[in-house]
Amino acid sequence: MAFESLANRLQATFDRLRGKGKVTEDDVNEMMREVRLALLEADVNFKVVKEFIAKVKERAIGQEVLKSLTPGQQVIKVVNDELTQLMGGEQSKIALASKAPTVVMMVGLQGAGKTTTTGKLAKYLQKQNRRPLLVACDIYRPAAIKQLQVLGEQLKVPVFSLGDQVSPVEIANQAIEQAKAEHNDYVLIDTAGRLHIDEKLMDELKDIRATVNPHEILLVVDAMTGQDAVNVAESFNQQLELSGVVLTKLDGDTRGGAALSVKAVTGKPIKFAGMGEKMDALEPFHPERMASRILG
Ligand code: GDP
Repeated sequence: MAFESLANRLQATFDRLRGKGKVTEDDVNEMMREVRLALLEADVNFKVVKEFIAKVKERAIGQEVLKSLTPGQQVIKVVNDELTQLMGGEQSKIALASKAPTVVMMVGLQGAGKTTTTGKLAKYLQKQNRRPLLVACDIYRPAAIKQLQVLGEQLKVPVFSLGDQVSPVEIANQAIEQAKAEHNDYVLIDTAGRLHIDEKLMDELKDIRATVNPHEILLVVDAMTGQDAVNVAESFNQQLELSGVVLTKLDGDTRGGAALSVKAVTGKPIKFAGMGEKMDALEPFHPERMASRILG
């Protein structure tokens, strides 16, 4: 379950604090040592941990907290607030262009869950009475086009494909023309993934971006890979200027290191979280709810 091991550790620490009638500066320092270890064990970026601990201490050691009637609760509230801020504060919604269609480029490394997430996003938009068009631009992985077509059939969402002999830039361009003609209000472009970040992949993505001027570039990363996911996000962001991140496989990520580091490291919000393999297992990412999940 998402955040389970981190949640268990922090909750054990906070249970001891919760009932205390009087909390001293030493208590806070002691507790923050444990929080620090728990976050590092959860694979949160060490710089992020350092800044987080400093911020919480600064606020928690304030006299209005320690002298309050429920100091333990107040300290926990500070941690809750700062965890929420760490994950972006407010929920960050998917863009909606003033003039349809809204063009969304889905990018990511192979295996992260990009094609699945593209399908899930189509379903999410459908539920909001939108009319998405899926676009098969991953022409290198043999099964990718078929995979998208199968998802499209299952969801009853149209899929635009020109096979694997036409350039992705051309496919994307023609797809947008079709979307305009057919009144699709979202165009979801499933781009190619590779096992590693390389120049060829980035050049192709830059070409597509330059041609279609997307309203969103969403990077799909696997939450279970922890700091690797954060590093991938940093590289993609430097090269492509992302608009947001989708964290997949959060259902299997008991630690939560990527979820807690991505926004702080890249400055880009997590917009959605994948919570399973099924098409309806995509949730808008709510930082506050995620923080509550961690603190119980
Ligand atoms: P791509 O290469 O990035 O397009 O990856 P795929 O979309 O083919 O997904 C790779 C695998 O991850 C598939 O088996 C998916 O079912 C699985 N997957 C994708 N998202 C999630 C998720 O949120 N949770 C879980 N448990 N599995 C997922």
